Amino acid sequence: MKFSIIKSFYKSLGLLCVLCASVVNGFSLDREAFSFTGYDLILQLEPEQHRLGVRGTITLRNDSQAPQKIAVLQVSSSLDWRSVKAGDKALQYVTQPYTSDIDHTGGLSEAIVTLPQAIAPHATIDLEIAYEGVILLDATRLRRIGTPEEAANSTDWDRIDASFTAVRGAGYVAWYPIATEVANLSEGNSFFEVLGRWKEREAGSSMHLHIDLSGVQGSELKASFDTDGTARVNETGPHVLFLFNGVRCAPLSRSQRYPGPALRTLLADCSAQALRLDAPTLVIADYRVIERPAIEVRYLSGHDVAATNFADAADKIVPFITDWFGPMREKAKAADLPDPKAAAFESGALLLTPLASDDSNLAGLAAAHQLSHASFLSFRPWIEEGLAHFAQALYLEREKGRPAALDYMGLHRFALGEIENPTAMPRSDDEVNHSLVNTTSEDLYRSKAMYVWWMLRDMVGESALKKAFAAYRPEQDNEASYMPRLIAAQTQRDLGWFFDDWVYRDRGLPDFKVESAFLRKTTTGSFMLTISVDNLGTAGAEVPVIVKFTGGEIMRRLEVRSKNKAVIRVELPAQPQEIAVNDGSVPERDMTNNTFKIQQEAK
Ligand SMILES: [Zn+2]
Repeated sequence: MKFSIIKSFYKSLGLLCVLCASVVNGFSLDREAFSFTGYDLILQLEPEQHRLGVRGTITLRNDSQAPQKIAVLQVSSSLDWRSVKAGDKALQYVTQPYTSDIDHTGGLSEAIVTLPQAIAPHATIDLEIAYEGVILLDATRLRRIGTPEEAANSTDWDRIDASFTAVRGAGYVAWYPIATEVANLSEGNSFFEVLGRWKEREAGSSMHLHIDLSGVQGSELKASFDTDGTARVNETGPHVLFLFNGVRCAPLSRSQRYPGPALRTLLADCSAQALRLDAPTLVIADYRVIERPAIEVRYLSGHDVAATNFADAADKIVPFITDWFGPMREKAKAADLPDPKAAAFESGALLLTPLASDDSNLAGLAAAHQLSHASFLSFRPWIEEGLAHFAQALYLEREKGRPAALDYMGLHRFALGEIENPTAMPRSDDEVNHSLVNTTSEDLYRSKAMYVWWMLRDMVGESALKKAFAAYRPEQDNEASYMPRLIAAQTQRDLGWFFDDWVYRDRGLPDFKVESAFLRKTTTGSFMLTISVDNLGTAGAEVPVIVKFTGGEIMRRLEVRSKNKAVIRVELPAQPQEIAVNDGSVPERDMTNNTFKIQQEAK
């Protein structure tokens, strides 16, 4: 299951994207000089009017090497800047539209702020800000790269609306200030690189939100808060529910509350979860809830069956997931989307997905991914996301056998084949940038990482891998080699070459070919087949070699380093007919040259 759909659009459609990376008179702006380390925001939401008004304080830290006199603040292009102050002093700023696909509207409202004094490297400044506007359904960025309207709207479904409000953060809707260079969906990996840099700068920042909801039908709102940051509002009419993910929230005590009409004001004090690179996401909808020990499913009216089905499917596989990835660290949360075609979205253990299907297999597949996030935490995407996709393959293997898992993984191979295409093979410095430990490409940290986990499982065995997972502590993961070392500690095998080809560097993919096979009859009447396998590709792997003979087949595993050959002898009870290398568990550049017919009669 691919959670980010955006990427599939920019690849095939190279339509002209109007770039207007404007430069303010005479000097160039370093838009990424500042990191935003703190947000203390008061949100006024008027769903009936689609309106958002925000004021509050943000803290900027100069993470560049030079003093900075200018700060750039960006919000969605449908919002307008009202004021920027430092202390009590209004600051001078100019606003301009800034075309960037980091926001669903395809643009940002940028405020270029002259600071009261130059901010030294590492120093911080607090700015009081205000901006407001509307957030409507808007898929401009996708439509201008040629995405059909319906698909675009089902992907960029964020909006503030009386019936359903959902705003995902940076990468979808800049509803809180950010500062990024141009992200361009029609230009290679630009979008994911810019977003990746932003998330890295954001990791560890805190966000305090005060949410004031008005204009919702019903005269009286009463808010109650869960410790996990979920605010529940009970009205006389529908249940309105807040989900605010990516952060830990706690209710404010009465005395801390920002003065406002008490019963119509919902307040939460939320602070970011430092280890995970989530975009803060706010959802307000008329949800019903199914609560289970490991998962909560929030669903819209009429979706009871699908929601129950989802909760059941998740419940069923909890022991399987915890056996692999450890006890649940948090409760998984699923919430319904009103558009049945809406692209699913995940943020940590929260999954937003249309609950419209009663296919329990699909539900199980989604739940496996989500539960693994609730159970295993890493801020490294190739571990966090790679393992969640690996969990899906494991789930299918358990339900339907290895071929079903390999088929599922095969769906990811296409994306991988494109990105790891030999004509587009990385230059040597890209080998490091595109490596699993550094990449911002979803194809790599989802699809390729899933294969890497699967191959590791095949090489070191299930129990060794589970022990390595159990030993993993996210707070101790300070080096890229931390996880590889935990795995290496569980096996006698030398895995250095594997990690080098697949994890620390992007060496592309292997390409196996049976070079020759020699058959002879043994004195006991069995058949001895000597197979030489060539790896024409640029990455090594341990690959299954399958020999088919009358009445059956035998599978052996063979390690073949890149640009190398390896030989294996297989004893068979009958005359062999065919050799096939790679059952699909190793991603490969060319699968068309993998079978070898045995013509020779044994003597
Ligand atoms: Zn995921």
